Amino acid sequence: MHLNDKVVLITGASSGIGAATAGRFAAEGSKIAIVGRNEVNLRKVAEKCELMNANHKPLVIVADVTKDDDVKRIVNETLAHFGALDVLVNNAGILATGSIENTSLEQFDSIFNTNVRSVYHLTMLAVPHLVQSKGTIVNVSSVAGLRAFPGILAYTMSKATIDQFTAALALELAPKGIRVNAVNPGVIVTEIHRRAGMSEEAYVEFLEKAKVTHALGRPGEPEEVAESIVFLASDKSSFITGACLPIDGGRH
Ligand code: NDP
Repeated sequence: MHLNDKVVLITGASSGIGAATAGRFAAEGSKIAIVGRNEVNLRKVAEKCELMNANHKPLVIVADVTKDDDVKRIVNETLAHFGALDVLVNNAGILATGSIENTSLEQFDSIFNTNVRSVYHLTMLAVPHLVQSKGTIVNVSSVAGLRAFPGILAYTMSKATIDQFTAALALELAPKGIRVNAVNPGVIVTEIHRRAGMSEEAYVEFLEKAKVTHALGRPGEPEEVAESIVFLASDKSSFITGACLPIDGGRH
């Protein structure tokens, strides 16, 4: 994939898709900076990455992407440690259920601060460095960005925003040699629903009600998303920009 020694910054790397993505880049020989709030989990991910690639120790950055000072620190620490930035993976995100009738403005702001504003802020600070490296950006969106599902209104809106951000930013940055793409996962087995306060049963019920089903008849694994993130970050996808790639087991 020609990602050996490339500097890759991944948010939300303490679990799920981000952790799998960190492992996949480590296996490629990349220098990785992993971001999250949970230091214990981040250190575990870092240890796994080191087993895959003994040459590069991951840089662990404990930070909250909704805090402006933390976002500045994420970029500064990555640059200070590795001296460059080649790939930005905007993966950190939260799921929240709710309709127009029961999502408060505070809840709406919380979802948009994590899923949208932080992505804008981190990308804004990363772009000058990506210009120098002619780097790539991969945003982790959702199938909920591509089509509407009931019961996750603000989340759906946040991911649709990420898709348009991806498309518009790709146009802006193409002349500077930076490619910007998104992956749009379907249901992937991670902690995201538990973090949203849903039990296993409530999650299954929600998926049935929202008619989130996949042609392949199973949910995806984080590693199956990581593969596409690595591909979109690499030169193997050199003629792809502004794309939103569904990784959803086939629309059903
Ligand atoms: P997880 O809950 O397993 O991982 C979410 C990650 O985001 C964690 O590492 C968490 O780290 C981090 N995160 C959340 N909020 C913050 C914050 N304020 N600051 C820093 N880090 C934060 O979920 P997934 O792996 O499933 O989710 C990853 C992405 O994939 C999200 O953007 C999600 O919307 C998207 N997605 C997931 C799908 C699924 O079915 N799982 C489907 C479609 C899209 P920490 O707690 O350490 O801060």
